[in-house]
Amino acid sequence: MQVYKFGGASVSSAERVSNVADILEQCGEEELVIVISAMGKTTNALEKVAESFFAGKKDTALQLFEEIKQQHITIAKYLLVTHYLACEVRLKDFFTEVEWMLHDQPVREYDYYYDQVVSVGELLSTCIVSFYLNERGIVNEWIDVRDVFRTDDNFRDANIDWEYTQRKMNENILPVLKNKKWVVTQGFIGATDENESTTLGREGSDYSAAIFANMLNAKGLTIWKDVKNVMNADPKEIPDAVPIESLSYNEVIEMAYYGAQVIHPKTIKPLQNKNIPLYVKCFLDAELPGTTIHDQISKNLPPIIVIKHNQVMMELKTRDFSFVGDTHAYQIYQWFNEHSLRPTLTQNGAISLTLAFDNWKDKIARFSSAAAELFDVHLTPGLTLTTIRHYDNESLKKYIMDKEILVRQQTLKNIRALHR
Ligand code: ASP
Ligand code: MG
Repeated sequence: MQVYKFGGASVSSAERVSNVADILEQCGEEELVIVISAMGKTTNALEKVAESFFAGKKDTALQLFEEIKQQHITIAKYLLVTHYLACEVRLKDFFTEVEWMLHDQPVREYDYYYDQVVSVGELLSTCIVSFYLNERGIVNEWIDVRDVFRTDDNFRDANIDWEYTQRKMNENILPVLKNKKWVVTQGFIGATDENESTTLGREGSDYSAAIFANMLNAKGLTIWKDVKNVMNADPKEIPDAVPIESLSYNEVIEMAYYGAQVIHPKTIKPLQNKNIPLYVKCFLDAELPGTTIHDQISKNLPPIIVIKHNQVMMELKTRDFSFVGDTHAYQIYQWFNEHSLRPTLTQNGAISLTLAFDNWKDKIARFSSAAAELFDVHLTPGLTLTTIRHYDNESLKKYIMDKEILVRQQTLKNIRALHR
């Protein structure tokens, strides 16, 4: 049993969908669950629909949704012959569900509507891909993952009910596989016990795929991406970034923690718990070996460089020159929770505390005004946070030394600098 996950870029056009079918035709797997994202940038486009609807701009919402409909219909027409009409019926059902809602007035919270609208992206893409694969003789069954993934109603960041989901996995997925059919299903979405759609957080379909792998005791999970390997840095930032062929689970968790956008951070735990290897492979050239993430210690790693722009430094100084003690720290962490804000860096001083944040303007403003009760608050925006794991002299010189540094932290393994 294997799980494959195809991201948005791998199904962004008719050609790309047919490329996915080529990969599947040649993969030689017996039992396979195929988890697919929304096509291309559909999730972003659907976010705009939800925003317009919630802002009371019904016509804009409907018009934006119309564009998304047409894109999907066009791709389906291009790909399908004998199955086109059946596919169109299904797509139209999904369209109608969203449009019904868009004709209403919002009476609930934004996050609820967001999930009802945005979740359709995955339903549309998997519907088209499933019909197309069947038309090409790649026998599969389309499964609505909302019948399997039960979540709470924490819309936009829903939490999985593991027990219920495991039971549904055994009831709904295993029999399909036993029947010698592959499963085609959605990442990123689930449903509450009241059948409301939920989403698991942006880029959440890696996480969905990892849950499938965990619950079905898969031999491996392959995430198909448009890059050849996991690299030691983002090549858009650092042109001489190098590929890494093998990484430990721990290393990937650390990388994600410092902000590397390799894999959705929640993905690793379900795999590590069952020691299931994760293969990152390139859908543009399936022959390439890619990167394996597994239980083995990564040896001879190059320095791993993570650069986060658009950071805001916040300095908190006690008003009365009292030391920053446990009560202060406790209070600050409570505010983090209340405002769902996570610092990217923290540094304690005697009477001050320095924090860095991604630039979430509203949250930072709310946090600052809470903190102003106890502290003088000073903000410095427009900074960059550079982290180097496994640093050496050369990487230090190249990425840290020449910067105007405001905060610097160093341990045996990591060096971090907040700089201009
Ligand atoms: N389609 C969703 C997103 O773009 C989920 C995913 O692709 O992982 O965030
Ligand atoms: Mg994606």
